[in-house]
Amino acid sequence: MNIIFLGAPGAGKGTQAAIVSEKLNIPTISTGNLLRAAIAAGTKAGLEAKSYMDQGALVPDATVVAVLKDRIAAEDCANGFILDGFPRNIAQAEVLEQLGVAIDLVISIEVPDEEIMARMSGRRVCLKCGATFHIVNAPSAAGDKCDKCGEPLTIRADDKPETVADRLKVYHEQTESLKTYYGAKGVLAEVKGSGIESTTRLIMAVIEGAAL
Ligand code: ADP
Ligand code: ZN
Repeated sequence: MNIIFLGAPGAGKGTQAAIVSEKLNIPTISTGNLLRAAIAAGTKAGLEAKSYMDQGALVPDATVVAVLKDRIAAEDCANGFILDGFPRNIAQAEVLEQLGVAIDLVISIEVPDEEIMARMSGRRVCLKCGATFHIVNAPSAAGDKCDKCGEPLTIRADDKPETVADRLKVYHEQTESLKTYYGAKGVLAEVKGSGIESTTRLIMAVIEGAAL
């Protein structure tokens, strides 16, 4: 089963993808995490991506597609995967089609912009393993360290309020139209993103209903 999680930055895609990944026993592919890892490793893709990410802009399609293609080819993706953060525009959705990647379900997590702005100030991330936390809504069991790998947690460079506003603008201008695109293909489901557990329940109901 290949699933796409759609939603504004901070809607909870990464958090929900991690939970659902474990339940379905398929990996999550987060292009944001892949790009941050590429930057940390100083690869060509990382060098290309950094300035765009720092500004809250989309990284050029060719760069993202290169890192995504490598990841999708890995053995653990054979039984399906969850895409978190890809596609982010229609051109990227068309790349998936050209690659022959069949999409079974697209789950859009709906959260109002005002709530996104409030949430982002509390977000903390682990740059080592990619886990995300929220100081109030989803704190790490290890305080200011990652409770999965022990790395000290950090605030993402692009989580400053000005940059969050820019990323929301990019979402509305470039990404949201994917709802129409996948709606026309009959694979779109919208769920309300509120508490973490209630959102998971709504998502699992959609997945079970899709009964693939
Ligand atoms: P969020 O969903 O909270 O915005 P991500 O980690 O998914 O966070 O993305 C962070 C940044 O990484 C984006 O603002 C963008 O610059 C870049 N990025 C991630 N995925 C893509 C993509 N599919 N296409 C272009 N840029 C991307
Ligand atoms: Zn970690």
